[in-house]
Amino acid sequence: MTKRLFPLDMDEDTLAALNDSIDRFVRQFHRSTATAPPRWPEPAAEDLAALLKPPTEDGRAPDELLAHIATALRSGIEWSSGSIMCFVPGGGLPTAALGTYLATATNRYVGLAMLSPGAVAIEHSISNWLCREFSMPSSAIATATTGASMATLHALVAARQSLGGDFDDGVVYTTGQAHPCLRKAAFIAGLPSRALAEVPMTDTGQMDTDAAGRMIHRHREEGRRPFMIAATAGTTGMGAVDPLGEIADLADEFGLWFHVDAAYGGFFHLTETGRRELAGIERADSIVLDPHKGLFLPPGYGYLITADASRLTEVFSASQAPVLADLATNLDLPDYCDFGLELTRDWRGLRLWLPLHLHGVSVFRAVLDHHLQLAQRLYDRLAEIDGMVLWGRPALSIVPFNVRGWSEAELAGLVDRIAAEGRVLVSTSRFKGQLILRACILHFRTTAEDVDRLAETLQRFISSTGAGRSALRQ
Ligand SMILES: *Cc1c(COP(=O)(O)O)cnc(C)c1O
Repeated sequence: MTKRLFPLDMDEDTLAALNDSIDRFVRQFHRSTATAPPRWPEPAAEDLAALLKPPTEDGRAPDELLAHIATALRSGIEWSSGSIMCFVPGGGLPTAALGTYLATATNRYVGLAMLSPGAVAIEHSISNWLCREFSMPSSAIATATTGASMATLHALVAARQSLGGDFDDGVVYTTGQAHPCLRKAAFIAGLPSRALAEVPMTDTGQMDTDAAGRMIHRHREEGRRPFMIAATAGTTGMGAVDPLGEIADLADEFGLWFHVDAAYGGFFHLTETGRRELAGIERADSIVLDPHKGLFLPPGYGYLITADASRLTEVFSASQAPVLADLATNLDLPDYCDFGLELTRDWRGLRLWLPLHLHGVSVFRAVLDHHLQLAQRLYDRLAEIDGMVLWGRPALSIVPFNVRGWSEAELAGLVDRIAAEGRVLVSTSRFKGQLILRACILHFRTTAEDVDRLAETLQRFISSTGAGRSALRQ
């Protein structure tokens, strides 16, 4: 047997040397992103085969492994680029990576307060900050999840409890623009597919609350049990904000759980404009947020704010398990494992705590406010392009658009041509069955130049083809 390159318990110098090579690699990566294309070509077959190889018995040299990772990074979308306006970009703040490093290097378990009260206090400080930001009552708690999909599942299961054990006749209200994670959550929660009632939308993609009221009323008459209404505060496709105040009124009137999916749009609440657009969100029973979108963190970090934390413990309380007995503490800190599905998880809070404390909250407010302004700028630039179809001023930072008279194949071709040019990226969605294009501004590196470059690119491609005519059909 060959000598192992690295024992599990390494001496300080070996660990430091390893740390240095990774640090050098990351610095080189950050430098390279300045000139990287927003989208890399597909990986070569032999590279992919190499990446799929299993681990070796005897270990490998760090340089070899880092070269491997470098290969992996030269494919797909370059999420570090400010020119990406496809899907919902996040950014990946370098300081969040350092927070994650600190959290995992120090190896604290934050599921139970007694086991790491100090770490849990840090985790809880973020929870409290979020609850205060959204003017939640003192009974509220914010729980970290891996993302909005997981947070939505928690909210739906907590809301479903009001139906008791037999919930086949339960109904949840939402629009066709709601994120598919709600449907997934309903399926996992054991609700039948008819439990999701699709409320009609206005021409700009918001929930039609009059129609919702009529549906709820009718379902009740039919003996079904409406229990939740799910609004979206910034739809992923259109960036539309459902009328939160009116939906809160409906929820009050009919005794429904008022859920707000603010995965994309929620953190605009940190700005004055955003607070206006999201008015009514503070009346929610649950709010879903994604720091890995609106606070520019790397993937894997969502939040669920629940106005009445006891609705979560009713479902998820875990500290009663025999192996966890005698772990109570008199400290006024939560046992987070009682508020969600995960028992053992990472000290996720530090990933957000470090950037917030290091940069200061005002930096995030300023960048988000800038994004709202950039979206208005993009809207104005697009409105000048002949043949451009728009859906009114953006409420937040997603601008949906279309070209008059173009077929779906032509629109999809436009997205590909923009990508092939390699200066900026947008993506598609659907609204009322129709393919649309959309630009989402939510990367801390995105500038006015990126936005202008997108407008210029669109102008050039559209005028060379002609709106109302066909590029492919000739
Ligand atoms: C991204 C998104 C989700 C899903 O969030 P994940 O963090 O990817 O699980 C849900 N709702 C909306 C509005 C989103 O934009």
